[in-house]
Amino acid sequence: MKNEDTNSLFPGLLSEAPKGKIKVVSSINSKAVKPMYFSYSKLSLYEECSLKYKLKYIDKLPEEPKFYFALGNSVHNAMEFMYAVKSPPFPELKDVLKELKREWKTRNWMQKGYNSIAHEAKDYQKAVDMIEAYYEKHHKIFKVPFLLEYRTTVEVDGLKVIIIVDKINYLGNGEIEIIDYKTGKNVSRSTDQVYLYQKICEHDPRLKEKIHQIYGDRVSTLKVKNMEYYYVPGLREIKFERGQEVDIQSLWDRVLKAADGIRAEEFKPNPGELQCKFCDYKAHCPIFTDNKNIITTEKEQINYDKDGAYSKLASLVDEYGKISTRINSFNKELENIKTEIAEVFEKKNIASYSGKNYSLNMKKIEKWHFKNRDAVIGLLKKKGLYDKVLAPVLKNIVDLLSDESITESVKKEIKAQGDKKEVLNFEIKNISEQV
Ligand code: SF4
Repeated sequence: MKNEDTNSLFPGLLSEAPKGKIKVVSSINSKAVKPMYFSYSKLSLYEECSLKYKLKYIDKLPEEPKFYFALGNSVHNAMEFMYAVKSPPFPELKDVLKELKREWKTRNWMQKGYNSIAHEAKDYQKAVDMIEAYYEKHHKIFKVPFLLEYRTTVEVDGLKVIIIVDKINYLGNGEIEIIDYKTGKNVSRSTDQVYLYQKICEHDPRLKEKIHQIYGDRVSTLKVKNMEYYYVPGLREIKFERGQEVDIQSLWDRVLKAADGIRAEEFKPNPGELQCKFCDYKAHCPIFTDNKNIITTEKEQINYDKDGAYSKLASLVDEYGKISTRINSFNKELENIKTEIAEVFEKKNIASYSGKNYSLNMKKIEKWHFKNRDAVIGLLKKKGLYDKVLAPVLKNIVDLLSDESITESVKKEIKAQGDKKEVLNFEIKNISEQV
């Protein structure tokens, strides 16, 4: 999979959060929901650590180049070159390797994120070996694919979802097969990524057009018949049946939940050995800035006992507990200060105030919480309102409550599904010159 998340492609709502402002309380924005640009990478990063998501996509803090992307991108590029013909013959192996070398040389070892020339040279050799082995195994059965590196953006439920599919084969009768190349060691991938591809491909009108242009077939519906992760290092194909409705829906619910969380500005650190180890934002993360001595992600500390048990597990569990306790205590402290400020503001009937370094604005915002998402969606469908919310995200459901075209009795039924809270929204801004 190529990275779908270049800045120029994601100019939507996510990029609009003002820099230098700290939202003390998450709140639902009262402005109309703009379509949000979304991708599999965004979903997985938000679920992994929502604070890291914010620092990357909203604050747009730069990350260091990662050497493992250099290897993956070069192999993907060579695979694309290998198949990019309208009809046979396919390029010879020597030409594919020439293309691999050309792409590899476009950046030096430091720009690619390697810590030494030797490490870079080792990975280049790995890429050469992978391409040679793949070519050797498959070149006699090469087929011209329907599409390579197919990039599309499809709007579904108020989200503009971007996908880049490595290879698509057309099987006839409106059916396609999706192939995603993997160059890492991990062969136990979840189906999330391909299920998202299935959903988006099947909603994509451009694909039907392309089938017509290339094969002359006019298809009314397009169906993903099967999907495959191809592990290039081990020349191993892992095939999947198309996802069932229930699987796709459950993935999509997670996508909508993540989108709700992002719109509500719910961003919390979620420390874990793997995600923190490769995270460039430790200097911006309270877990690391306040607990420098608690967490360590150094490789040499990962030791296994003779019987295979993870000897550090108990201390990791304790570290996790300690950090969680600290986060809770910070949050509690913040809540206490907030309550105190709110009391003074109410007494003095003011809504903003400045300290030496920060200014603070307070707004009262109604916040709804619907415990049973399925019940609300069922009710909306029954009342013919499902299409009206475009996507059953919280903001759109809440908007129905002030929609004049909806009867009071229906609004009452929707309200009965949820709880309304009035929350205080603090918007704090650093006003000191030094910071
Ligand atoms: S260091 Fe860990 S907890 Fe902090 S932002 Fe990065 S991944 Fe999240």
